Amino acid sequence: MPEGDTIFRTARALGRALIGKPVTTFRSTYPLLTRFDDDTPLTGQVVDQVESRGKWLLISFSGGGALATHMLMSGSWHIYRHGERWQQPRANMRILLENAEYVTVGFRVPVAKMLRAHELERALRIPPTAIDVLSDDFDATEVSKRLLKCRDEEIGDVLLHQEVIAGVGNVFKSEICFATATNPFCAVSALNAERVANLIATARKLVKANVLEDSGDAIVSYGGRQRRTTHGSDPGGSLWVYGRGGEPCRRCGKPIRRRIQGPDARVTFWCPVCQPKPDGSEIDG
Ligand SMILES: [Zn+2]
Repeated sequence: MPEGDTIFRTARALGRALIGKPVTTFRSTYPLLTRFDDDTPLTGQVVDQVESRGKWLLISFSGGGALATHMLMSGSWHIYRHGERWQQPRANMRILLENAEYVTVGFRVPVAKMLRAHELERALRIPPTAIDVLSDDFDATEVSKRLLKCRDEEIGDVLLHQEVIAGVGNVFKSEICFATATNPFCAVSALNAERVANLIATARKLVKANVLEDSGDAIVSYGGRQRRTTHGSDPGGSLWVYGRGGEPCRRCGKPIRRRIQGPDARVTFWCPVCQPKPDGSEIDG
């Protein structure tokens, strides 16, 4: 599943191509979207806003409707100039939105809904901006409150709960735990207040650092850019632990471990030396 920073960058790129411009063509292979378009034609409407909210990407139109897409594992949005060759086959096109300058295509987008703007948050269970790591309204106190309610769960799992902290995906989960020297298998109840505050601040810092303006405003393909959470000391690798099972820890040199964690069976990477449990027991996690 794409991380929040990827959706944020996609929204930013799509926003540049679409906001303030009238739609000239709308097409979709989803009957529910085309039915909405039959009732309230999108052609001629102006795109007011494109934003990422949690893992949803929302495109709002001047007529009061909003297109919400969720990428899950397979979806992506591409931006092309008219006449430019697409990087995916036509058969993968699910949604197409054009204006005078650009052709934007949602390829293999598995979940797409058209809603009235005021229905969105409720209908999609979109997390409030207070717990969205990429929102200016982010409220660490609120996140801390929600996180501490999951006292019996492992922190590595809780970091993925979108109703606790929205926008942290599985890659960042492992990276945040490493950066704060937290054992991902540690129960929330075993974390002191200082560590909880540090985890939340680090989550925000790491995810935000990955949406800095450095990818240019040309065509952005979804997921095309590598995440960076190290400080550039190793140009060959961009992450501290994720995807590095068996390789030496960048801090202590001991092998990074890999294990499946939680009810959703997500993979977790950690260094048992740099990320011991608080009581020193079960150093392997
Ligand atoms: Zn280590």
